[in-house]
Formats: sequence, structure tokens, C-alpha cells
Amino acid sequence: MNKPTTMDWHAAAKSLKIRAHGIIGGAATLAKSGKTFASHSPIDGAHLADVPLMAQEDVDAAVISARTAFDDGRWSHQPPSARKAVLQRLGDLIRENRDELALLETLDMGKPISDSLSVDVRAVANCFSYYGEALDKVYDEVAPTGKDYLAMVTKEPLGVVAAVVPWNFPMLMATWKVAPALAMGNSVILKPAEQSSLTAIRLAELALEAGVPEGVFNVVTGLGPDVGRALGLHMDIDGLFFTGSTQVGKFFMEYAAQSNLKKIGLELGGKSPNIILKSYRDTAHAARTSANSAWFNQGEMCTCPSRLIVEESVHDEVVETLKEVAKDYAPNDPLDPATSMGALVDARHAERVLGFVDAARADGADVAIGGKKAREETGGSYVEPTIFDNVRNDMRVAQEEIFGPMVSVIPVKDQDEAIKVANDSPYGLASAVWTDDLSTAHKMSAQLRAGMVYVNCYDADDMTTPFGGYKQSGIGRDKSLHALDKYVELKATWIKL
Ligand code: NAD
Repeated sequence: MNKPTTMDWHAAAKSLKIRAHGIIGGAATLAKSGKTFASHSPIDGAHLADVPLMAQEDVDAAVISARTAFDDGRWSHQPPSARKAVLQRLGDLIRENRDELALLETLDMGKPISDSLSVDVRAVANCFSYYGEALDKVYDEVAPTGKDYLAMVTKEPLGVVAAVVPWNFPMLMATWKVAPALAMGNSVILKPAEQSSLTAIRLAELALEAGVPEGVFNVVTGLGPDVGRALGLHMDIDGLFFTGSTQVGKFFMEYAAQSNLKKIGLELGGKSPNIILKSYRDTAHAARTSANSAWFNQGEMCTCPSRLIVEESVHDEVVETLKEVAKDYAPNDPLDPATSMGALVDARHAERVLGFVDAARADGADVAIGGKKAREETGGSYVEPTIFDNVRNDMRVAQEEIFGPMVSVIPVKDQDEAIKVANDSPYGLASAVWTDDLSTAHKMSAQLRAGMVYVNCYDADDMTTPFGGYKQSGIGRDKSLHALDKYVELKATWIKL
């Protein structure tokens, strides 16, 4: 997908029609209470929309709609070839509406418009196409039980599935759950984060246009402790798939235990180690790539390589290169296609992120560059790209997820210490090692306790590989064919011959 750089995004924003409603049973729906909450753009604080502040009663209506649709088979009983055609049409519709979707995403959560177009919208469309294409290649099994019986192992949809998602890649995180869930015949209820509801609503509208039947893809808007909790505790939801913080992920396990033991999938936080060894041929290249990954999406990335673990002899070159790259990430207008660093999702989050600057100083780290607000005159929430240097792994900035444009440089004496430091974290999402030594690359990638290991790269990405974490980074995987297994029950049927 080529990104148009000639478009006047400010003019497009002025004429954009923003829809702010939930979708239940295929219809635009407001909260039964009539209450709303205001959505503001982090770009300049402008009021974007009043979004329905839904509650338990609205969640109940969405569950009834999803259950009715599931039970009468309007989607769940369709032949795979029919569901495939609809999901592929949805992928195409997303491509046709890419400018509108990208603009909504950027206005709502502050990421650069070029990234919304070339990363988010492209990946969302590809994800629907991928699972559409995959779903009629999923076979059931006949078990090798011997001649007296026929034992069939079949995959059946879970039923009513809820997806609760965060604001950093709003539409993409939703799609990683909605697309495989729909592919396997489930009915879905999506709850977007309250900071970024707008693209979820538009996505569900496009799904209806593509032919997803009414009631099969519902959207409920509102706050986590109300709507998210009501979904988590609901007795008639069969599976709940969550992306967000580790703390809230733990709530969802509790909700499941307190209610109906619904199936749970969790994609949670990270504090990813990125090890640059002196055995890598081009220290500056490793540092540049690492900086690009650390500051992409304002650092609001679960896989952000936020712990840069460097062998002492290459430390100075790494830090000097990071400082150079930081110039490319000076926060700027997210609607300018040349911008690399946009606004953080809201002022409250920006304040939280900036709090880590004091924490770093108090623990004895150096603030090599950054650490301050930027573009305050705009009314938006911008933070400078920041480097913490001479960090020890027990400091707060090395242990806690910052979720902002801040990278901690941790010097180590050799690769053994590097592995020890890398694994000394409650998280285990992504990790990386830079080395030209083949044995070291293999040994260290096996030693890293993380769901994803990058060798001599960072954030290589494709729909075909599973995405998720070890330890407190989650349970289960999104993406790839493996994700389909989360949205089915296995049934064993014995027939006496
Ligand atoms: P969050 O946990 O605060 O919120 C995520 C969702 O949970 C939102 O929809 C929110 O409304 C809801 N929620 C909040 N409190 C709730 C409660 N008490 N009960 C029920 N639902 C509740 O996370 P966030 O700030 O939106 O997103 C940032 C987090 O997401 C980071 O930790 C990041 O690492 C993580 N993340 C992980 C992945 C991954 O694939 N592992 C991907 C993206 C983001």
C-alpha cells in the first residue's frame, strides 16, 4: 500500500464525519442510560465525539444479540467458503476506506498518519484476508482408534467471544482477535479502549457492509471497570480474549474464576531486552535499528525494546548513535506525513511517562537526552525521545513498563551477564540479540525467555508467525494459524461400528 504524501490531512480531518455509537444486533446503538463520555484528540486536545458510556445492561443486550446470532447459525453454520468470501471482502473494504480509517486512528490516539496508513490499516486488511484465506483449509481429524470404532475429532466454534483491547494499535489489536474468531464461526463482542473507540465502530460497520450478518460482530463502548468487567464476569460469554496491561490481564483471570470459567487469552505487557554484542559487525546499524524500534509509535508498544543491553566496549558508540537518531524523532504534527513521532495517547498518560524521568534520576541513572514535554503550545500531549544511560537492571526504569518514548541503556561486561540481565524481568514478550557469531546467536536465542527473539533485526513481522509472551507477558498467541485454536472447542465423537 503506497502512502499518499500529497493529501491535505488537516482539510480531511475537518470534513470527516465521526460516528460515535455502539453496534448491537447490526444497529447503531447508544447507551440505554443515554450517558456519553467525551473523546478528545491528543494532537491538540480538540473534542472529537461523545461516545456512548455503556454499562451492564448494554453488555447484556450485546450478549443476547451475539448468542441469538450464534444459535440460529446465520454465521456459525455458513459453509467455510461463504465465511471466507465475506472476510476477504472485508479486507478489500478496509483497503478502499484506508484514508478514513487511518485519519480516525491518528486523530483518536495521536500516532503519525504515515504509520496509521502504512502499518495499522495495511496490517488490519491483511489480517482479515489471511484468516479469510485460511479458514477453508482447516481440516478435522479421524483418530487412529482401531476398526471397532470411528472416532472423529472436530473443531467447533466457542460460541460468544468477547475481545477487550488497548489503545496503542486500536484497530489492529482488535483485528488480531476478531478476524480468527469470526473465521472459526464465533459471534463477537468487541470492547475498544475508552481512549480510542472510533475505528472499532467503523470496522464493525464495514463488516456489516461486507456481509457479516447482524448480531455477529457487536461493539460496546465505555470504561474498563464497567464494560470490560461486565464482559469478564458475564455468565453467557464463552471466551474472553484480552490485550492490555498485565495488571488488568490478572483481573480477567479473576473474572473468569468468579463467573463461568470462560476461556481466557491474554496478551500483556513487556520490557523487552535488546542485546548488542561487540561481535556484531556494525554497531551503529544495530543502534539505529534499535532506536527506530524503541521510538516507533511513541514507544507505546508492548514489544518496545526498552532495555538496551550493551557490551561495555560498544556502549559509547551505541549511545552516540541513539542521540543522532533522536533528532529524527522530534515530536511533530501527527497529520504531517513526514512526522515520525506523534502525540502520546492523552495528557494523563504523558504525565505518567514523564514521571519515569524523576524515577531514573532518583535511582542514579543519567538522562542523556530528552525527558521533557514538547509542543505544549498545541494543547496536545507530546514527550521528547529520551535516553536513560548507565541504568542498572534493578532500577524502576529497567523493571517497569514505561510505554513511552524512553529507552534504558544497561552496560554489561559480557554475554553471560547480558543473558542474566535480559531474563531478570517479570515479562517475556520480545527480545533481541545482535551478533555475527553463529553459535552465540543460536545459544542466546535459546536462552532468552521470551515469545519472540529477533537476531540482527528488531520487529520483523508477518501474519504467519505467532505473537505473544512468556511469563507475565501473557497466555496464548495471536496471529498465524496457531491463533485459530484459541477460538474453537475440540470435540471427540465416538461411533461404534
Ligand atoms: P489497559 O490494561 O489499561 O486497558 C486495556 C483494556 O482493558 C481497555 O479496553 C480498558 O478499558 C480495559 N480495562 C481497564 N481496566 C479494566 C478493568 N478493571 N476491568 C476490565 N477491563 C478493564 O491497557 P492500555 O493502557 O489500554 O494498553 C497498554 C498495555 O497494553 C501495555 O501494558 C501494553 O504492553 C499492552 N499491550 C500488549 C500487547 C501484546 O500483544 N502483548 C499489545 C499491545 C498492548
